[in-house]
Amino acid sequence: MKYKANQLKKYIIALDQGTTSSRTVLFDDDVKICGISQKETKQIYPKHGWVEQDAVEIYNNQIQTLKNVVQENNIHPSSIKAIGITNQRETTVIWNKKTGKPIYNAIVWQDIRTSESCKRLKRQDHEDYIKENTGLIIDSYFSATKIKWILDNVPNARKQAENNELLFGTIDTWLLWNLTEGKVHATDYTNASRTLLFNIKTLEWDKKLLDIFDIPINILPEVKESAHHFGDLIFDGVTIPITGIAGDQQAALFGQACYNKGDTKSTYGTGCFLLMNTGGKPQYSKNGLLTTIAWGINGKITYALEGSIFVAGSAVQWLRDGLKIIKSAEETEELANKVKEDYSLFVVPAFSGLGAPYWDMDARGAVFGITHKTRKAHFIKATLESIAYQTKDLIHAMEEDSKIKLTYLKVDGGASINNYLMQFQADILNSKIERSSILESTALGAAYFAGLGSGMWTKKTILKNITIEKEFIPEMEVKKRDQLYKTWKKAINRTTGWED
Ligand code: ADP
Repeated sequence: MKYKANQLKKYIIALDQGTTSSRTVLFDDDVKICGISQKETKQIYPKHGWVEQDAVEIYNNQIQTLKNVVQENNIHPSSIKAIGITNQRETTVIWNKKTGKPIYNAIVWQDIRTSESCKRLKRQDHEDYIKENTGLIIDSYFSATKIKWILDNVPNARKQAENNELLFGTIDTWLLWNLTEGKVHATDYTNASRTLLFNIKTLEWDKKLLDIFDIPINILPEVKESAHHFGDLIFDGVTIPITGIAGDQQAALFGQACYNKGDTKSTYGTGCFLLMNTGGKPQYSKNGLLTTIAWGINGKITYALEGSIFVAGSAVQWLRDGLKIIKSAEETEELANKVKEDYSLFVVPAFSGLGAPYWDMDARGAVFGITHKTRKAHFIKATLESIAYQTKDLIHAMEEDSKIKLTYLKVDGGASINNYLMQFQADILNSKIERSSILESTALGAAYFAGLGSGMWTKKTILKNITIEKEFIPEMEVKKRDQLYKTWKKAINRTTGWED
């Protein structure tokens, strides 16, 4: 490549490898986004419930977006001071050390092929040990049973593992290994804590868990802090250090500057992901939330409680593509505002069961309160409100488990631009909502880790650059709020236990 660039400027690059696409985001020294390049990932569905991706394609796309960003913004590689990686979590790759080739496609976190083996493990009474030491539940979502599936189903895989020929990695590890040309096989605490194999208290791969899941320790990566010099990428002859790694949701928590105990963020996308910083000790949930490592920096581990909503922005997609009562997601704000004072309708979008705190997979969606006066706008408003009610359910659970009262919620993600939804969220939660001016919190978090890991930024630089685009202050009167939430709970009760 030819460069005629301004070499005085300094940049940090975030590699954001998500479920649907690989992106590279370029940040300048003032934490401003100067360039983004993106490539979609092909989804492979070999059977019902199976979801795979081509790990080689993932790496190639990631590198291509990095090259695009450098070229399109005309920057010299020597002005890139560090690279941070953030990634779809739990997705599993196993590859051959010598050839560098994966022995099977990446098995994506959504893949449920191992749910039967998870059920068997649950019957063997391992759940308490697993919860206590990993913070997780036994589920096909996490990496352990996916690793075992590959080892048991790819011919000769067990043998190759025994002979020290194989390596396992989540996507961060796979990218890192390739970026460093096979020199570094490592991950960070946040990604390790989603495998079901990592002990979040001792901070080591757990021997008992490796026995339970039948996985050899020699294929596992080294585990480091999230801001750490993992290795180097040689790019057009220039050495660029890779100094940050974190799983996507933890990166978003960090990108939202949730650095103090009790700080909480919610990402409103297809689903919602809520994480609360619970400080230096793991807090366990009685409400079906997960306990996870938020990050490790400077010898200190911070833990988080995590909960997710299955159907959030996707309920808006249902209005558009299923019911066809809107043309675009953006319309919902204006339409909801038209019937602002009317709270007669409740939509429970339990399309595929209810997650935390209800955990009822047999629940199905329902609409309550239909009268002669019900119009399309009521459906739209009630659908937006269902996202806020589900968020309140999770926040309640988090408050109960952590004994911390939420004072404000930081938000990002595609649906967080909806002002009606955000105001209703503030009203129903009775807490302030802060919408950050950079909605790219995941990439931002990766850049922050890389900036800290490389010494280019300090926590002070980061805090100075946090800007809030809009705040939403609760306005609803207490009586109204309590009454609405009570009715929501009633609606939930009527949807549970549906058997079809
Ligand atoms: P993901 O990362 O999960 O793909 P995004 O953060 O890109 O999700 O957000 C997309 C989701 O947000 C979609 O489900 C879409 O329906 C919803 N969405 C986008 N814009 C709006 C809006 N103005 N109001 C409500 N929902 C919206």
